[in-house]
Formats: sequence, structure tokens, C-alpha cells
Amino acid sequence: MVNKKNFNWTNWAGNHSCIAENYFEPETEAQIIEVVQMAGRERKKIRVVGSGHSFSPIAISNEILVSLKNYRKLISVGKDSVRCQGGMYLHELYSVLKENKLSLPNFGVINKQTVAGALATGTHGSGLKHRSLSAEIEHLRIITATGEVLEINRDTLWDAASISLGMFGIIAEVTFRCEPLFYLRSEESVIEFDEFIEYMDDYARRYEYFKAWWFPHTNKVYLFKAERINEEEYNEKDKLEKFSYEQKMRDLEIDALTAPMFIKSHDDPSLISAINKYCLNYFFTPRTRIGNSFEILVHDETVPMVVSEYGLPVLNNNHKKALKEFRDTLEHSEQKIHFPVDLRYTGAESSWLSPAYNQETFYIGMCVREYREKEVHPSMQLFFDVMKKYDARPNWGKLSDLSKTVLEKIYPRMNDFRELRKNIDPDGLFLNEFIKNVF
Ligand SMILES: Cc1cc2nc3c(=O)[nH]c(=O)nc-3n(C[C@H](O)[C@H](O)[C@H](O)COP(=O)(O)OP(=O)(O)OC[C@H]3O[C@@H](n4cnc5c(N)ncnc54)[C@H](O)[C@@H]3O)c2cc1C
Repeated sequence: MVNKKNFNWTNWAGNHSCIAENYFEPETEAQIIEVVQMAGRERKKIRVVGSGHSFSPIAISNEILVSLKNYRKLISVGKDSVRCQGGMYLHELYSVLKENKLSLPNFGVINKQTVAGALATGTHGSGLKHRSLSAEIEHLRIITATGEVLEINRDTLWDAASISLGMFGIIAEVTFRCEPLFYLRSEESVIEFDEFIEYMDDYARRYEYFKAWWFPHTNKVYLFKAERINEEEYNEKDKLEKFSYEQKMRDLEIDALTAPMFIKSHDDPSLISAINKYCLNYFFTPRTRIGNSFEILVHDETVPMVVSEYGLPVLNNNHKKALKEFRDTLEHSEQKIHFPVDLRYTGAESSWLSPAYNQETFYIGMCVREYREKEVHPSMQLFFDVMKKYDARPNWGKLSDLSKTVLEKIYPRMNDFRELRKNIDPDGLFLNEFIKNVF
């Protein structure tokens, strides 16, 4: 097993890093158990890193860091399920699914995370009929602080363990429920911000897959609406503009072209309005695409950035008020924000730590591109301040600034989770500073 001392680790966004006394890459379950038991004996804290795609300091450890990059094999594929080791990357899982004409019902935006890492923070996509990736878990095999195996099924601790931020132990194996590969037609168009506010929930109810990108300082929102089509329609490629290589290249071209502009905009934020406007007009023209679920819903990686995201209940128009207040506060301040502000929906879910726990949820996500500082960017602080007023629930993998007391108030099962965590890991082997501050 690979073991490195004083290992320097940095997350994908480059805003958090640590030097771990000991870093391990176990290759077997026995080696995972060995590392956990050694940590217990030596009273060292331990965290697992996935692919480091969290923007929060959730994965870091100055003591023991474990990566499952050598524990990422496919275990089995059935007619409606797939089982793999926790370190498998999502793109590897998705390739297996595609080969077997299977799909998950929904996806997060990109495919570079590890399976266990994505589940640990409740990674989600968009669509009111859908929930996070964690909602599709059938079974988890977790190595706990004593080195014992904890099996999680739908009827055992599922609501607590399906989104656990790595606090119950090392997720060694995951079984997902799948469905047959499906096909989508997506329509993308631009509307005014105020029109979006008026109709956003109607669109979210009407289209199975719906999300939007607000381009701050342009007053415009780019809509993404997609519905299922049957395989025959999909095969009639010539009649409609099918998903094509060229279209995929658009995303890469945007990144290549915009990265230098984003870097420059840090010295001159007034450039941001012009960049957002230029990109919207040049790249985000209306289009219709046809493709399989992966082609339409999953994107390649994007330029480095830091991201914050909060979820609000789809209730009494409060979520609309929050979005409007964010827009108004931003436009009346000196701050400028890079595109896009990501606007998404998911259905209610039962995982205790999900931002969508027991409530249909509208998510607002903002980014600062090409920014690698640990300090919160002032434009993000502005966002935090508005979200706080609405008791919005943070995405654990992204940046937020909520205190323990506030989190207790907005996550009603927080105390239950805490009690359970203490039972499973009484010595707090799997805690780091970030987790300790909250739990
Ligand atoms: C470009 C980009 C796009 C993104 N898009 C979305 C999106 O669409 N929707 C969304 O919700 N989020 C999104 N995210 C956030 C991302 O999905 C989450 O932060 C996710 O947790 C990252 O997975 P990872 O494998 O990189 O894990 P890491 O970030 O390395 O770790 C995340 C957490 O998982 C724990 N962990 C990792 N492996 C294990 C294991 N085997 N056992 C126990 N715990 C483990 C870590 O300890 C840590 O607590 C995006 C991030 C980026 C950078």
C-alpha cells in the first residue's frame, strides 16, 4: 500500500490544503481496516479524500489522509443496479452504466468526483421529480472507527448514513439503483430575469429536467428545459439538431477563452459585466439538443473557481424573494459576480443532512472564477448575508458561513445525527476542524 509522510494535499479549487503526517492508498478492504485501526491505536484523526472537488475544507486532515484511488473497481452490474468500490470516479461509473444501457435518474453537473465523495456531501442535479445522488443508494458498506463493517440498507440508518460527510467511517462499497438508459430533448433559451422569477416554478413543475443560469449584470437568464423522448425519436437524428461533438466543444471553448478574462477581472471588476454579456450573447444562443441522459445532463470540468450554494424551500414564494433580494443587493453594491449563478430544483428527500430534507428545494449557487484564496471573496460574503436572512441550507461540499447554532435550527435532525455519530465514532476519529465546528 502506498504510504507517504508529510503529504501535501490541495483541493481541486486550490482554496484549501493540508500537510498530512501520513497518507495512505489502501488496495484491499483489509488494508482499509488496518489503517483505521492504526489511527485508533495512535489516537490520530483520519479523513478520506475523494477527488478533492469540495470547495469547503471538509476533506482535509493534518494527521491521516486516505485516498481510495486504488480501491475503485466495479463489483457487479445487474439489470437495475450497480455495485462498485467507493473510490471509483463518477466518469468510470457512468461508462459502465452506458455500456450496460443503464443510467441514474439524475446527475450533478460534472463527472470527476469519486462515488463515495459525491455521496458524502449529497451531490445533486436539477429537477423537482429528482433528488440527490444519495437518494439512489441501495446499500453502503462502511468501515467504522473500530475497523468493523457497517452495512447500510434502506431499512437501517439509511436517512442518517446516505449523506454523512464521511463521519460514520470509510465508505468502501456502494450499490446504486439504476434505470434503463434514457434519451432527452433539451431546449435552451434566454429570458428576462423578472420573467424568470414569475414563471420559474411553473417551468420546474412542467419539465422533468429544469435549471437556469442567471448572468448577473445583464438581467438575463439562460433556461435549460429537458424532457424524455423515446429511443425511436432519438434515432431520428437528422430531423433535429442532435447532441454533437461541436456542441460539446462549446463548453471547452468557453473555458479556454474566458479563463484569461476572469483572471484579468480580479484587478478590474468592472470588466465582469462586459464578460458576462459577451459570453451570453456569443455562446449561449438558443438551441435544441437530443442526446442520451449522460450527453445532455453531464458536463466536462470547467475553469477553476470557488462556489457557494444554498437551498431554500419551494414554499410561499420565499425562495423567489431570496433570489430577488440577492439580485437587488448585488446590483446596488460595488460587487460584481461572474456568470453563471446556477438556479436549480430538487424534490424533497429523507436524508437528514440533505439541504432538501423534507422540503422541495430551490438552489442558488454562485461562483468566483480563478480565485484560489482561503479568505471569502467579498461578493460571496454578500451572497452569504442574503442567504442567512432566509434560513437557507448550505450544500456541504461548497462554501458557506453558518454557525453551529444556525445549522441546528435549519437542519431539524442535526441533533439526532450528532447522537448517532457519537455512538458510531465515540472518539471522533473521523472528525477534522471543519466538521468539529459544526458537529
Ligand atoms: C466543478 C465542480 C462541479 C460541481 N458540481 C456539483 C453539482 O452539480 N452538484 C453538487 O451538489 N455538487 C457539485 N460539486 C461539489 C462536489 O460534487 C462535492 O463537493 C463532492 O463531495 C466532491 O466529491 P469528491 O470525490 O471530490 O470528494 P472530496 O471533495 O474529496 O470529499 C468530500 C467529502 O467526502 C468524504 N469522502 C470522500 N471519500 C470518502 C469515502 N470513501 N468514505 C467516506 N467519506 C469519503 C470526504 O472526507 C469529504 O468529507 C461540484 C464541484 C466542482 C469542483
